[in-house]
Amino acid sequence: MSLAGDSVNQGERRTALVTGANRGIGYEACRQLGRRGMRVVLTSRDEAEGRRAAEHLRNQGLDVLYQILDVSSSASVEACARQLQQQDVAIDVLVNNAGVYVAEPILDATESAFLETLQVNLLGAWRMCRIFVPDMVARGYGRVVNVSSGMGQMTVRGEPSGGAYGISKASLNALTRELANLVQGDIKINSMCPGWVATRMGGSGAPRTPEQAVGTLVWLSSLPMDGPQGGFFRDRKSIPW
Ligand code: NAP
Repeated sequence: MSLAGDSVNQGERRTALVTGANRGIGYEACRQLGRRGMRVVLTSRDEAEGRRAAEHLRNQGLDVLYQILDVSSSASVEACARQLQQQDVAIDVLVNNAGVYVAEPILDATESAFLETLQVNLLGAWRMCRIFVPDMVARGYGRVVNVSSGMGQMTVRGEPSGGAYGISKASLNALTRELANLVQGDIKINSMCPGWVATRMGGSGAPRTPEQAVGTLVWLSSLPMDGPQGGFFRDRKSIPW
């Protein structure tokens, strides 16, 4: 099956790495980025599940590599980068999607649950950026999409705070701003909210499908040079922090 006509890449073929991609939004992101002509590195902390997911996508004619990756471990992030380097695979697009959700009100959360939330949702994205963004800067091109949430918004009344989860996503947005202000060249770093999505995290009652949810993610992954930098988006529209 030829997918060339569906490509969002007008020039050089890009390679995207997606974290937490064995299921949910991450898996769908791999599928849609692949369908648009990118080579995709599908990563997961569970190797069997991730390899199975990658195989499904390859069976659909997509160019998908697999790499084991636990974003809560610096050693795992470094090993992933090393293995990609050994295969001569450079990452042009980084999608920080891996996430965990702790629902308790913040005063009821256990310390370990709070720490795990920050380990994955905030520090996981930072570990990935710390390794992959300098290489993007050196090569003069990069797109980073931080999958955040409306629960991390600090200026919108009526939103549930989301306890540790909301704090982790507000912090992730702060990381987006910090990095976007730091990088030079054609590097775009943005946050997005996928909406409320029917995944294991979102539950079966959520109104959006993963397919609907990743439109903004795909757009941010393939922004032109004059595209937005350091913003927060839902449905391709800027939303308040
Ligand atoms: P999901 O179905 O629960 O998927 C979460 C993914 O993250 C899984 O692949 C999970 O792997 C992975 N993950 C968790 N900890 C990890 C770690 N330490 N290292 C690597 N991967 C890890 O949730 P989802 O709805 O697709 O969520 C994806 C992103 O969207 C998250 O950042 C979430 O906060 C955000 N989001 C979701 C919604 C929603 O309504 N669903 C709304 C706003 C934002 P395992 O399978 O091994 O657990």
